[in-house]
Amino acid sequence: MILKNSKENIDKAVAEIIAGNIVAFPTETVYGLGANGLNPTAVAKIFEAKQRPSFNPLILHISSRDQLKELVNIENNKVYKLIDTFWPGPLTLVLPKKEIVPDIVTAGNPTVAVRMPQHPIAKRLIEACGKPIAAPSANQFGLLSPTTAEHVEKQLGDKVNIILDGGKSDVGVESTIVEVTENKVWLLRHGGISFEQLKEVCNSIEIKEVDFNKPNAPGQLFHHYAPKIPMKFISEILPNELDGKKVGGLFFQKNTTEINFSHIEFLSVAGDMREAAANLFFNLHKLETKNLDIILVEPVNKKGMGIAIMDRLVKASNRYR
Ligand code: AMP
Ligand code: MG
Repeated sequence: MILKNSKENIDKAVAEIIAGNIVAFPTETVYGLGANGLNPTAVAKIFEAKQRPSFNPLILHISSRDQLKELVNIENNKVYKLIDTFWPGPLTLVLPKKEIVPDIVTAGNPTVAVRMPQHPIAKRLIEACGKPIAAPSANQFGLLSPTTAEHVEKQLGDKVNIILDGGKSDVGVESTIVEVTENKVWLLRHGGISFEQLKEVCNSIEIKEVDFNKPNAPGQLFHHYAPKIPMKFISEILPNELDGKKVGGLFFQKNTTEINFSHIEFLSVAGDMREAAANLFFNLHKLETKNLDIILVEPVNKKGMGIAIMDRLVKASNRYR
């Protein structure tokens, strides 16, 4: 059930988490499906509800720096620089874990992913629970990520008792994931903090390229984030492929084609890449409900948040390759 933002409703969600159950809650990136991150049985309920493979580790969400020290060993001072600049916010750090972190959270890895979210409801929830909250996105594994409470209800409404409503997520794509080892900083996933922003703080950061046949970190899958109807880049359409089909379009700023669309959405009429990211999943959810046969997307410029947007669009279209 969707519950609106109030103290009583946050208290209900806290009680549910303390009792070892799962709740959906808003963050500035996407909505999360959370459980007590130190309780393996509670965390198992997340995997079950999402039908998420157990080799895919979760992010622990915290509300204070003291909590971070309980969970990880910090061996590189760049961690403090990154935290000072980007927390609370859409940056996840992968760091060597302490004993207290259950294996189910890390998929057996010696490292754990941790983030301090910025959204006021997420902050209040984590603080009131007094525990790190393990949370992936609150969707069925592999499908579109949720950026509103209604999106969560559509996919997981029968699996979760409480969905806290915090409005539309304003970053709209997942967090950027960075692994910090003793002497290296790696970017593992593009997201709400751009590579350029990271470079300003840590100029030695490198992108870990993924071999899909041999992923170097769990969760770097070939296809992900996909709508339930086929999706393709406009440049990939074959001759006559659209004949007799109801076609949807997702454009950055304006329609650049002669195609006869049944429905079109724009990521940012003003041409703003951050607004585009915030609208990405929101618009794909909308297109998913329009009874279309296919969704055609226009690639965006791979600059700033455009890199994270393209990462989602490529992975979503890979499902239909
Ligand atoms: P999400 O799927 O958005 O909840 O984010 C979780 C993602 O974080 C996973 O799919 C992995 O890509 C990444 N992740 C979490 N923990 C680790 C870890 N210990 N090492 C590498 N990547 C991780
Ligand atoms: Mg996800």
